[in-house]
Amino acid sequence: MLKITPYLGVLVVIVSVFGIWEPKLGYFLLIVFAALLLISPFRGRWFCGNLCPRGSFNDFWLGKISFRKKIPGFFRNIWLRVVVFVALMGFMVFRIIGTEGIVDKIGMVFVTMCIVTTLIAILFGIFLNPRTWCSFCPMGTVQRWFGGKRYQLKVDSSKCVDCKLCHKVCPMGLNVNEMSHKPDCIKCGRCVKVCPKGALSF
Ligand code: SF4
Ligand code: SF4
Ligand code: SF4
Repeated sequence: MLKITPYLGVLVVIVSVFGIWEPKLGYFLLIVFAALLLISPFRGRWFCGNLCPRGSFNDFWLGKISFRKKIPGFFRNIWLRVVVFVALMGFMVFRIIGTEGIVDKIGMVFVTMCIVTTLIAILFGIFLNPRTWCSFCPMGTVQRWFGGKRYQLKVDSSKCVDCKLCHKVCPMGLNVNEMSHKPDCIKCGRCVKVCPKGALSF
């Protein structure tokens, strides 16, 4: 299984910082949107755990300075996700329509989105958990809607000894062996790797 790399997080910094001077860098977000839309109907939130630059930034960069508290259930609430989705996507579409099609200005809308969401991710990532943002990120919500039932993690309960090691390593804070349906699993494979009984598989 492909593993997310710390180096992908550099792309978040490049777009958020250098995008202020070169707004065309904002169009990189379209590549990210396209990739996750193509993958999610087949593999759910696989992109989040294996290819997303901000996922990498959260895991490896924020992970070094995070208080690593448990992600409160509130951040997974579907209504919060809908509100965040409508607010951010509505803001983006509104700004794009208002720019009258000028390439750099539209690029700057994407850069602004990247800066705003990165700042939110940093705030929650430091004071709560590195992946707090990923619990209600609009792009994570879209992948959940498109493929939440795809490529599910399987638990062999005859092998499981309920040691809960899988809970401890799950970046999304899921109770891995206690849930039959995991639409927010990002398919990172860390629980599979840590399970001493080989009870988990995809
Ligand atoms: S939830 Fe959003 S920011 Fe987090 S890994 Fe998925 S697409 Fe990236
Ligand atoms: S790590 Fe394996 S054995 Fe331990 S609780 Fe998770 S699935 Fe069960
Ligand atoms: S359940 Fe396992 S594969 Fe899914 S996000 Fe948690 S650790 Fe990663």
